[in-house]
Amino acid sequence: MPELVVENLKKSFAGNAVLEDINFTVADGEFFTLLGPSGCGKSTTLACVAGLEHPESGTIRVGDQVFFDGDPRSAVPPEGRNLGLVFQSYALWPHMTIAGNLALPLKLRKVSGPEQKRLIDEALDKVDMLHLRDRYPHQLSGGQQQRVALARGIVYAPGVLLLDEPLSNLDAKMRDQARIWLKSLQREVGITTVYVTHDQVEAMSLSDRIAVFMHGRLQQVGTPTEIYETPATPEVAGFIGRCN
Ligand code: ADP
Ligand code: MG
Repeated sequence: MPELVVENLKKSFAGNAVLEDINFTVADGEFFTLLGPSGCGKSTTLACVAGLEHPESGTIRVGDQVFFDGDPRSAVPPEGRNLGLVFQSYALWPHMTIAGNLALPLKLRKVSGPEQKRLIDEALDKVDMLHLRDRYPHQLSGGQQQRVALARGIVYAPGVLLLDEPLSNLDAKMRDQARIWLKSLQREVGITTVYVTHDQVEAMSLSDRIAVFMHGRLQQVGTPTEIYETPATPEVAGFIGRCN
């Protein structure tokens, strides 16, 4: 299985630099978190990896498939990138059942009917939602909808899963439960995951490694212990709650 490599990424909006020289590598099966305050460029980084935005320069690849090499004209379109996406507003289509919501990405990929059913049931089973496959989204709690959104993100077995603050719509108690459950799901599925959050507790408890973002720059990449014990800058120390 491939690793994700992001090199020298730069991005501006209307002349304002939002990402400057972003470099990181996510190993196969790793849970890698982009952590930083609101507005520091985490979602823009994910959008570049997903192909929803193009950087001004830099390269992005998964294994030996080059998604972006600096030239937007040769960029692989989002649907060609074999990535699972779950964003903050994990909107499910309200007029479709849970199974219908999972079927759509498979239909887009031209997966046959019987295979669709097998993959949908397998993904729903992984998130303990199989018994609700024929319900509609409004009949589910927020936590259940969030699980279904994750199942939709993994149903076609993407190479890399991109999660942008997927727990932020949940209340604090459900968020704690969802965190525990998300970690066990990731271990079970073994999928390479890039997780975005502004919540240092979430990052510390879920991640194999964390990249700390501030003002569009990477301050430090390391394990939760490294980041906590030896923050590279006073900004990192301040952000994770250490007062060195
Ligand atoms: P984060 O996810 O870390 O909160 P974002 O990546 O969403 O940060 O945003 C980084 C910066 O880029 C912010 O200042 C934001 O206002 C700006 N930005 C993001 N998307 C756009 C856009 N489409 N057009 C203009 N500015 C944007
Ligand atoms: Mg964001």
